[in-house]
Amino acid sequence: MDLNFDLSLAAAYTSKRQRNRVLTEAWMAQNAYCPSCGESVSQHIPNKPVADFYCPRCSEDYELKSKVGVYTNSAIDGAYHTMIQRINSDTAPSFFFLSHNEKRVHSLFVTPACFLSDSVIIKRKPTKVKGRTNLWIGCSIDLRGIPESGRIYYVRNGEECSRQEVVDHYAASAFLRTTEIKAGLRGWLLDVLCCIERLKRKTFSLADVYRFENYLSAKHPDNRNVQAKIRQQLQLLRDMGYLRFTGRGNYELMS
Ligand SMILES: [Zn+2]
Repeated sequence: MDLNFDLSLAAAYTSKRQRNRVLTEAWMAQNAYCPSCGESVSQHIPNKPVADFYCPRCSEDYELKSKVGVYTNSAIDGAYHTMIQRINSDTAPSFFFLSHNEKRVHSLFVTPACFLSDSVIIKRKPTKVKGRTNLWIGCSIDLRGIPESGRIYYVRNGEECSRQEVVDHYAASAFLRTTEIKAGLRGWLLDVLCCIERLKRKTFSLADVYRFENYLSAKHPDNRNVQAKIRQQLQLLRDMGYLRFTGRGNYELMS
């Protein structure tokens, strides 16, 4: 994988935005592949509203988000309500997050569709749009709410990961795809998963997870019984094969 852009493609463009779009899309078309089967992704016809790329073998759709700099806390997306509808639909896309400078790629990771929930789609301040009476509401994706298992790196800080590592990492996140849970209900599950990952331990107790109670109740202010909700998510994660109960409120991760 050559991390450098083919700058000759952008020679005709003066606007930075257009240059970046041309360079990043061409680089993706040349280098990106499906994390599930390893097949090169193909580009949809430009401006198809739903997705930018797809895997011809799995028919999975991918949307590309790119940014000059580094993705840290959040990624700006389009209209809020459209995004909520899309991630809750049966054809929800996965997202590629590409960070780069003017000449080369810094990092690229994919977040499979099942790792996105309403919980990480943050409404932005309504803005006026020229020629429209209604205010426009955009959104951003809260990347801190996406578990590590849902960030599958191809390139990390300028270092390429092997295709095998990418495919293995994707396969390890399969537990979340085996059960049909609508995106609107996935928020709790993903939030509890993030808390478990933050413990950075293979074994932990219910009390360890309860320590995130304040954090979780701030994210879900309508829920009055956060501890019960935590226990319910732990059961779901057990049923999915992500962890097992070892007795007396203790848990062990399966991998
Ligand atoms: Zn595929």
